[in-house]
Amino acid sequence: MIPLAVPDLSGNEARYLQECVTSTFVSSVGPFVDRFETMVAQAAGATGAVACASGTSALHAALLAVGVGRDDLVILPSFTFIASANAVAHCGATPWLFDVDAASWTLDPALVAAELAAHCHRDGDRVIHGPSGRRVAAMVPVHVLGMPADMDPLIEVARAWGLKVVADGAAALGAAYKGRPIGQLGADLTMVSFNGNKTVTAGGGGAVIGNDADLLKLVRHLTTTARVGADYDHDRVGYNYRMTNLQAAVGCAQMERLDQLVAAKRRIAAGYDDALADIKGIGRFPVPDYALSACWFSGAIVQPPLPSVAEIRPRLRQAGIDARPFWKPMHLQAPFAAAPRTKQDVADAVWPTVLTLPCSTHLSDAEQAQVIAALRSILENAP
Ligand SMILES: *Cc1c(COP(=O)(O)O)cnc(C)c1O
Repeated sequence: MIPLAVPDLSGNEARYLQECVTSTFVSSVGPFVDRFETMVAQAAGATGAVACASGTSALHAALLAVGVGRDDLVILPSFTFIASANAVAHCGATPWLFDVDAASWTLDPALVAAELAAHCHRDGDRVIHGPSGRRVAAMVPVHVLGMPADMDPLIEVARAWGLKVVADGAAALGAAYKGRPIGQLGADLTMVSFNGNKTVTAGGGGAVIGNDADLLKLVRHLTTTARVGADYDHDRVGYNYRMTNLQAAVGCAQMERLDQLVAAKRRIAAGYDDALADIKGIGRFPVPDYALSACWFSGAIVQPPLPSVAEIRPRLRQAGIDARPFWKPMHLQAPFAAAPRTKQDVADAVWPTVLTLPCSTHLSDAEQAQVIAALRSILENAP
């Protein structure tokens, strides 16, 4: 079976793990954690980073740090992984689910501006959502598939309304927006994930990156049981969200090869785009001209007259190829079905058409050719 995406651990991963065991630094304090935070901040073009146990916990801590609290609303694209919405819910807040822009599949700045103008008003320095009476506290743009959201107009709207911005850049390390890396796009904080299926993995893990030292200090405090000093004093309800030195050891070895891993992802994405371009009904994932995607996942959009993604997938499996659908939007998920939302025309139309194809960074040319040949044969022999 050619898997969808498995990590390449052929660098210094094993050696660094052995160093952890030998030194007995296996827990959440250790030299690899410090080194990892420096490498991640630098790769994102930010001044600092706080390593966390997962991307979800990083996003939760970032949202708490910018002041998201109980009963708040947080602007979020519906087309995202459920972890983005879960992190909002973990704050006691509710996502306000927005449709995405058809040209980028990311949060639509014009729609955000229009909905705020139509449904919200200011009450002192608070923004109140009229229909629910709730405060709108923040906006969470998501860099879908490693493709940055259109941040300049989003930041402009957020600043005009006084909203905090926490970007979910889970799979976007290595991406650029108008030539700037993801830590320089104007968000108060940005989250990245190092889960096993991301381009750079730590086994599991995440980080909050930013340029405001006080805010990052607060994130670190929240993720470290809100401990004050070296003894058992704590000044609020905190969390045990730190990354371990074991995870960071793997993460450091992966970060050493970030450029190479992202380049491989881009080469694989371009390979599918080029090889499938002539098939009627096949489209490529969006590539807005403002951004350079980190190409986390590759694949294709599959539309009529072609068979559906649901029909193609088992036939690829029969040919020994693991292909998958992609995110089902949040307004269609049981925990968020009742959340306030905008129209969802784009998300509803897009998500059933997305087919992700094998894109491990060490996928060989021969394996990719095998995937392409199998997919072509299924599409050409479709009834
Ligand atoms: C992977 C991912 C997350 C969650 O990260 P974990 O490390 O798995 O908790 C959040 N948002 C998006 C968009 C993701 O792709």
